[in-house]
Amino acid sequence: MPYEESSQEKELAQFVSVVLADTEAVWSEIFQDNGLQYKNPILVLYSNSVQSACGAAGSSVGPFYCPGDQKLYIDLSFYQELQDKFHAPGDFAMAYVIAHEVGHHVQTLLGTTEKTMPLREKLSEEEFNKYLLRFELQADYFAGVWANHAQGMDLLEEGDLEEALTAASAVGDDTLQKQAQGYVVPESFTHGTSEQRKSWFYKGYENGTIKGGDTFNTTSP
Ligand SMILES: [Zn+2]
Repeated sequence: MPYEESSQEKELAQFVSVVLADTEAVWSEIFQDNGLQYKNPILVLYSNSVQSACGAAGSSVGPFYCPGDQKLYIDLSFYQELQDKFHAPGDFAMAYVIAHEVGHHVQTLLGTTEKTMPLREKLSEEEFNKYLLRFELQADYFAGVWANHAQGMDLLEEGDLEEALTAASAVGDDTLQKQAQGYVVPESFTHGTSEQRKSWFYKGYENGTIKGGDTFNTTSP
């Protein structure tokens, strides 16, 4: 049964759609500039729990992207959680979270996910987590790339960004990932420090291009 949001959540559902549509416009253009074709992710709004190609998720997981079905799962209670627990400015934090998850979708389309995730089988957990960190920072870079192109959104107030990054890292867990037959992108660990995340977000924001976003081969932290 499709998720039916309450009237209170309708506004948020609308906001999520607007931000997602903006990421689609921006990434379609960037892909085109690189001779590639962008394919929109599918948005799934849910409450309580949801089944994905990456396994079952409860609302405590927070927003996540599943490369296996190329769907973006947004739990609408997350918005309330951002406000209540983390006092993150709702609109900005939510926009950032969506842009970061879309960043994971971009990684899937570019083949980075496919290259990175199988390393889990080959490396020790510690070694693999280093790759996962670079993977997460790249999603932040791509969120920044989007912000560079986003029109009419007053996004970049220093304090807002910091709070949003903190909030985004503070929720979710890796339970899904452990259970999953496929893989899910965990949002609670291996995301790097707030400083690292901000730095890569700003790099993406300054560059506004895919180029410059190789977080794997870099001397930057
Ligand atoms: Zn992530």
